Amino acid sequence: MVYELFKKSMIEENKSIFDKINKTNLHAHALLSANKELFYKEFNRKLEERNLFADMADFRQYTIDNLGDLISERDTQLKLYELSILTAVKDGIKVFDISVDFRSVYKIFNDSITNYVNALNKLKNKYKDKMVINFDLGISRKSYQAKDYYLIKKLIKTGVFNGIDLLGDELSQNIRCFKKVYRYAKKNNLILKAHVGEFGGAKSIKKAIKVLKLDVVQHGITVVDDKNIMHYAKKNKIVFNVCISSNLRFNNAINIKNHPIREMFDYGLIVTLNTDDELIFGSSLFNEYLLLYKNNVFNIEELYEIIKSGLNAVKD
Ligand SMILES: [Zn+2]
Repeated sequence: MVYELFKKSMIEENKSIFDKINKTNLHAHALLSANKELFYKEFNRKLEERNLFADMADFRQYTIDNLGDLISERDTQLKLYELSILTAVKDGIKVFDISVDFRSVYKIFNDSITNYVNALNKLKNKYKDKMVINFDLGISRKSYQAKDYYLIKKLIKTGVFNGIDLLGDELSQNIRCFKKVYRYAKKNNLILKAHVGEFGGAKSIKKAIKVLKLDVVQHGITVVDDKNIMHYAKKNKIVFNVCISSNLRFNNAINIKNHPIREMFDYGLIVTLNTDDELIFGSSLFNEYLLLYKNNVFNIEELYEIIKSGLNAVKD
């Protein structure tokens, strides 16, 4: 029975048992989700160790300093995607949602939507016997300009994307700037996601859900600051894709014991566990579960429920 396997994997702290269990990772970024070992093998390079990031600008600068050259070339950027996928395959992920940045079309594909989409489809097909790869069309909240709408529209039309995800600095542009894009994505049946409530307050979560008609909130941990907004999210069956290690690296007021995930779960919100940027935070999905188990945040039954919440979130 799967539950027994899961229990054993936690008690024995055994990743290879955990890897055999079907599960999801629904919040990850294609460039930054490889495990460090695979990355090292491929590029023969180690990333600078960092325990805490001051903010998104600091994180962005760290990424540029450590990976900028790999991100700016087509072949190496695609290799980073593939290493993220291989990491998920090794971890026994059955549905893997990863975001890619739409600006890659002009940054590394010479404006060729066809070549970009072909590269993504090639990766999907290569691993289709192992798992379902869902690409989310990632939009940088800070860099988006109104004219990007036309390229995004064309990309959505190609059908290669399963979802859309607003990411980066959530304190930058007003959420209303993205309404048009999200309406178009909804019309084309994409899953509507956005990074909110990681740094912004609970009110910003409600506003994003309302304005963009979100299905999914990436992080959303500040929701616990307002019971009315928790109620609103629950009523709207919002899925919260939470990433513990990521939150710990950005906010030293949060520790594993006081992380909002417990309160979110107890309130009856739909929460899933995910890795965000494993290459930087160094924590696999197994480790995310184990952290919560070993620190007595959740018991094994509750953690198993979280696994099931992920699988249920992608059913249909
Ligand atoms: Zn993220």
